[in-house]
Amino acid sequence: MHILGIETSCDETGVAIYHTQKGLLAHRLYSQIRTHAEYGGVVPELASRDHIKKLVPLIRQVIADANISKRQIDGVAYTAGPGLVGALLVGAAVARSLAWTLGVPSIGVHHMEGHLLAPLMEPDPPRFPFVALLVSGGHTQLIEVEGIGHYRILGESLDDAAGEAFDKTAKMLDLGYPGGPAIAELAEEGDVQRFEFPRPMTDRPGLDFSFSGLKTHTLLTFASTAKTRQDKADIAKAFQEAVVDTLVIKCRRALKKTRLTRLVVAGGVSANRSMRDKLRRMAREESFQVYFPRLEFCGDNGAMIAFAGCQRLLAGQTEPPEISAFPRWPLSTLAPITLEQDS
Ligand code: ATP
Ligand code: MG
Ligand code: FE
Repeated sequence: MHILGIETSCDETGVAIYHTQKGLLAHRLYSQIRTHAEYGGVVPELASRDHIKKLVPLIRQVIADANISKRQIDGVAYTAGPGLVGALLVGAAVARSLAWTLGVPSIGVHHMEGHLLAPLMEPDPPRFPFVALLVSGGHTQLIEVEGIGHYRILGESLDDAAGEAFDKTAKMLDLGYPGGPAIAELAEEGDVQRFEFPRPMTDRPGLDFSFSGLKTHTLLTFASTAKTRQDKADIAKAFQEAVVDTLVIKCRRALKKTRLTRLVVAGGVSANRSMRDKLRRMAREESFQVYFPRLEFCGDNGAMIAFAGCQRLLAGQTEPPEISAFPRWPLSTLAPITLEQDS
């Protein structure tokens, strides 16, 4: 079965074709970073318009890359939320029209379920149950995952998401947008000894996060320096390590609390090298196993939507006839499905 996946929840147009037996056949991503960079963040109306321009040509290219004809598509998966409503509606309208024309089912996928399941496309995928850490531009969540759609939120950010904190800190340091990769890159030149930033909410029990205080701390520290490149690098390093250590501490705590031994990390921030290194080290020390998506599937992409949609279509899930998009959509409300796993 060939599933076409379409992602348009924010500022990336992602398209992919996933085959139930052969795996991922083709995927392409068009990033709108340059469109939004001059505004220092995503402008929703520009995002929708750009998806309108790029989506159909991208679908054509991916079908050609996969070396199939559109008549071989057996289902269309698209991101139905959460995200920017205009951007979501572009993907939903195109996906559902295409599915209707081809006479195949369509399925609206939860963007965060897409992220969460992305590591399952890798060789040697994790088996259920596991703890998932979703760290992206809009979410920081620890989730107990018993299976697809069986999600129990163990903890989440009470204010900024980790990626959002990276983006806002980068803006403060004048490093541009998106901030995560810029901070990570500059942090390479930073002296870890110079500043010690707090690890928020790690000194009390619980699995929630808070990153907005760290942002203020960064602002005050920056104001106290001469704002040279080295100052920025040292602050980028201190900030990154504070976020990473906080995430590592809470992951360890979540694994101990649930008595689970597998940790799955996904979302844009899971591309952060320091975080990958520190989580791998923690996992080694505690005899846990940790799983990440390949780097290109950490951020938004069509492959994760094709894969997640494929699982739900295989489980026989259908959707109502009207087109809908859900800007807000709690992950915990998704329908559970059972997936056959080879063990
Ligand atoms: P959500 O998935 O919550 O709806 P989103 O789709 O905007 O939000 P993603 O595309 O998954 O988020 O991830 C983008 C985020 O990841 C941005 O905040 C970006 O700064 C961050 N990011 C990307 N690479 C890195 C990195 N190497 N280190 C830290 N953060 C990173
Ligand atoms: Mg993005
Ligand atoms: Fe995302």
